[in-house]
This record gives sequence, structure tokens and C-alpha cells, in this order.
Amino acid sequence: MHHSFSRRGLLGVGAVGIVTGLALRQSQAQQSLLPTTPQCTDNDEPTPRQTEGPFFTPSSPERTNLIEEGMPGERVALAGYVLDRRCRPVAGALLDLWHCDAAGVYDNDGYRLRGHQFSDAQGRFVFETIVPGKYPGRTRHYHVKVQAPGRSILTTQLYFPGEPGNDSDGIFDPALLLDIPLDRGPNLGRYDFVLDLG
Ligand code: FE
Repeated sequence: MHHSFSRRGLLGVGAVGIVTGLALRQSQAQQSLLPTTPQCTDNDEPTPRQTEGPFFTPSSPERTNLIEEGMPGERVALAGYVLDRRCRPVAGALLDLWHCDAAGVYDNDGYRLRGHQFSDAQGRFVFETIVPGKYPGRTRHYHVKVQAPGRSILTTQLYFPGEPGNDSDGIFDPALLLDIPLDRGPNLGRYDFVLDLG
């Protein structure tokens, strides 16, 4: 399993703290989860494109929190920057996230675990969601589309470090691994998207 997350917060009283933390307004969450300015290392290469897969649904609701009452799964804040290749923040970029539930099932009738938001003035975003389950043929992953205002759409996927299925997944790309710092309170998955804006 995704051993790199602390499981402590999911059990007993710790869960209360996590839920409270995730209830922070988006701007507060971004400020607490992300540094004020991005670290500009390794940003010269744009984020690789990946297949959309068969389960994208257009017109997802605009929201930052995909967690619903009673939804099983390990909570995670998926956060980062949208940057251009010169490490300049991209404000107002569309981020559309969709993924399967903890049992590996996509909601193809509605919008469970689907949502979009726009990066803030500093290029930051944060989704509050769960760790996706796995389904046959794929390692654990998120799907995401990122689009700077008026520009083309980057469709890609994000992966979990240390996931046993990564090596046997023909689509997996280590350039798309989340950074999961173990010293943070709420479970945090960091990824900075780098768009090739010319
Ligand atoms: Fe998928």
C-alpha cells in the first residue's frame, strides 16, 4: 500500500484534526501547504503529456474539495504550482482532476471525485481528495488536465512514489511522481505543473 503516508491521522482522534485542517478555506490551505514562491529547480522541462484514458467527463463542478460525507479512503491534499518554463507562476490556470474511488471505481454517471478549479494569483492550487484505489492494468494514479488561460490543454496523470505497481505500468512516468513530504501534518501530495507556453 501507499506506505509513504502516515496512517496515524486516519484512526482515532487524529482524524478530527485532519478533517478540520482540510476544511480551511482554499487560500489558507494554499498558504499553509505551499511556500510563498516556487522552488525553481528542475522546471526547465515541461510536464509530460499522458493519455486521457476512457473515464474523463467534461463539465466537472468547480470545487476544491472532492471529499463527500462518509467517503472511504485516505485523505490527501493535492497541491502545487502551475508554472511556465521560466518558473513564472501561471495565474487563473484551469485544473480539472478526476480519479477512481478507494475501491478503484470511477463515477461515470455523475461527478464523484471530479472537479475543477483555477490557480490563484501566485499560480497555486490545492485539491482536497482521497488516495485513489487501483484497478486492473494500472498503477495508482490521478488524472488531470491543466490549461493556462487561452492556451492548449495539458492532459496528464500523477503517480505515487514507492507504489509497487509503478514499474509494471506501461504508462507510468517517474517525471509525474508526486512529492510526498513526510513531515507535514495533513497528508500532502505536491506537484508543480510546468507548461510550455513558448
Ligand atoms: Fe485512470
